[in-house]
Amino acid sequence: MTHQTPIDALREVMPLSAAANEDGVLRIGGCDVRELAREFGTPLYIYDEHTIRQTCREYLRDFQSQMPGARAHYASKAWLSPALVEILVEEGFGLDVVSAGELHVALAGGMEAEQIGFHGNGKTPAELAYALDSGVGRIIVDNDDELALLDDLTRSRATEQQVMLRITPGVDAQTHEKTTTGLRDSKFGFPLPSGQAESALVRALEAPFLDVTGFHIHLGSPLFNIEPYADGIATIGEFAAQMKQRHGYEWREFSPGGGMALSYTADRTAPASERYAARIADAIHTACDTHGLPMPDVHIEPGRSVVGRAGVALYSVVSRKHIPETRAYVTVDGGMADNIRPAMYESKYEAAAAEQMHTIPSLTVTVAGKFCESGDVLVRDALLPSLQLGELIAIPASGAYQIAMESNYNLALRPAIVMVQDGDARLVRRRQTLDDLLHLEL
Ligand SMILES: *Cc1c(COP(=O)(O)O)cnc(C)c1O
Repeated sequence: MTHQTPIDALREVMPLSAAANEDGVLRIGGCDVRELAREFGTPLYIYDEHTIRQTCREYLRDFQSQMPGARAHYASKAWLSPALVEILVEEGFGLDVVSAGELHVALAGGMEAEQIGFHGNGKTPAELAYALDSGVGRIIVDNDDELALLDDLTRSRATEQQVMLRITPGVDAQTHEKTTTGLRDSKFGFPLPSGQAESALVRALEAPFLDVTGFHIHLGSPLFNIEPYADGIATIGEFAAQMKQRHGYEWREFSPGGGMALSYTADRTAPASERYAARIADAIHTACDTHGLPMPDVHIEPGRSVVGRAGVALYSVVSRKHIPETRAYVTVDGGMADNIRPAMYESKYEAAAAEQMHTIPSLTVTVAGKFCESGDVLVRDALLPSLQLGELIAIPASGAYQIAMESNYNLALRPAIVMVQDGDARLVRRRQTLDDLLHLEL
């Protein structure tokens, strides 16, 4: 039980600009959420531009202070929109994509192709062709079939492509099994322990139009514990040394991937970016010193942590139910169609009565979604004050992997997205309409 008002208790999970006005109404980016709800409706996704920019700046500052020349590629699968791409370009970020769709939106938003990396374990021939024709900076090769295909495609075009090899180091990232990607038994990357990473490198070096710039690892997400990065880097450093010794190959680039954590709940704080920077830089420097390797150009790939805190999901209460001696529910006008994470990963969130930010909560209430699944619960046992029908509920830390994984389940309309800053609210995506639901039907 907390004795703080929600605006204080949730400071760490809310956007940097979050505040409450005298009436206790939540403000983000200088905008009153009650007015945003009136103008744009609910569910509404509100993104605080200041938080996104500040987070980008901290990443570049912290990593470049440890490793001059370090770059950052935003992992666009966390949430992508042209409005976001514009901000990333201004902040000096590159970007990673995993599909033709993400590549298309990234280019449409103004990202230079050279600043784009193409990831994924199932790139189709059409997607690889699109990537090559667009001139993406790097393709991060995941497996043997892709390597062979890319060899063919670049030969037939007679154009050189820079590639990195994604290596699976066999490191336990200590996170949810559905978001662990660095273990030996993973669908991602060339397994290192089995020798497949080495044979992939040998084949890639023989491909006349592939220029292997270095290695990539991505261990999983979110990594609240930083040590797995050091373990992964030590393993890759040893591999890089062996490749130099056996094949005369020297890495020029390295990426430790993304996975930097996000504070979803007030009781579990994510490490600051400078802690990731310090540990990752130390591990890379150590690997280079130990094995006499040149310091590679490093790029990181944060996704969740860049946009997660900036986003707040805003809902209206549509019904309430109290089951004596069992549980109190409030149901909101959104749920698993805009936030599948609780159902998929048992993710935890905070919930706040967005019009009562100065009221110390006294009830334990489960915030349920409106969709036809018992598992559609957004927050179990939230601490909330008494709520009226139509009142607003805000769920912070909603900026990553929610809109990105949204669906039209129950033919829900996809929510509007508004970007706020300095009292200005800019609609960057309108809400779907009922007619939109029929647009693809023939
Ligand atoms: C998903 C992913 C990321 C980003 O992970 P976050 O947890 O969102 O930071 C980075 N790199 C690769 C290869 C990924 O698949």
